Amino acid sequence: MPTVQTVRGPIDTADMGPTLMHEHVFVLSTEHVQNYGEGDWWDEDERVADAVTKLDELKALGIDTILDPTVWGLGRYIPRVQRVAEQTDINIIVATGLYTYDEIPHQYEHRGPGLLLDLPRDPMIDDFTHDIRDGIAGTGVKAAFLKCVVEAKGLTPGVERNLRACAATHRETGAPITVHTSVGNQAGKLALQVFRDEGVDLTKVVIGHAGDSNDLDYLSELADAGCLLGMDRFGLDIYNPTADRVGTIVELAQRGYADRMVLAHDASCFIDYFPDPAARSAFQQVQPNWNFTHISTDVLPMLRERGMTEEQLRQMLVDTPRRYFE
Ligand SMILES: [Zn+2]
Repeated sequence: MPTVQTVRGPIDTADMGPTLMHEHVFVLSTEHVQNYGEGDWWDEDERVADAVTKLDELKALGIDTILDPTVWGLGRYIPRVQRVAEQTDINIIVATGLYTYDEIPHQYEHRGPGLLLDLPRDPMIDDFTHDIRDGIAGTGVKAAFLKCVVEAKGLTPGVERNLRACAATHRETGAPITVHTSVGNQAGKLALQVFRDEGVDLTKVVIGHAGDSNDLDYLSELADAGCLLGMDRFGLDIYNPTADRVGTIVELAQRGYADRMVLAHDASCFIDYFPDPAARSAFQQVQPNWNFTHISTDVLPMLRERGMTEEQLRQMLVDTPRRYFE
């Protein structure tokens, strides 16, 4: 039986069940907390308990597994996620990689092939591979997929190095990739170009945030290449309203792409972009549906009403997420 690593250890891919392919438990900068979080907006125990409540609620709605692509740059800290995973039944699958829109961290800047410390290969590949094979920072928790980014600035040298390091790690370990993309510059095509060049198995690539686009030519080009389309920001109407996201999924399904789409909200139990209650409620007023429950309670009924079959919904929620790890 093929297995996939979760925070609590390996499970059979057959047991993943309905899966949301891009959610965050915590987006939280260590530097932010250490300098500005004390006694104010951050209470570790309270936040862990709150995360358990939110994930239990999601589990009760029928979702068994989430993929959490929180990596360096978004504040990955596995011991905190472990505390949550111990107290909820939902499976949490974590990632390795790097979240940057442009430059890579200085910690990698001078080390690598042709750099000040001239190494035979990029140390990012060694770090990512270690997270997948040996576990993350002594926790024993193994990453099961890779995360990288192509944003509005396109393939800057740092972005390209990150993509190539993820591609090399994918080739070495077989771990699939999720790439955050922006739609204004059709960044999915830029990612595709690098991954093709690197010999990546494109059926193991999620083009994250593809669902921010309603351009059917762009989306079918990515799907025809074999990639999975991340229809993964439900509730973030500022990027694309729910009705349009739904319409695009229905249209793509009619064109035969139901097995190339996966679903999520890109929501979090806590995100320190909105640290205090005032910031949180201000954003909540603008984006009231940006939470873990929107797909189960609103989006799936809309998709059914628009004629999508249970079989097609199962492909997006169960079969395709499972295939990603097999
Ligand atoms: Zn995200």
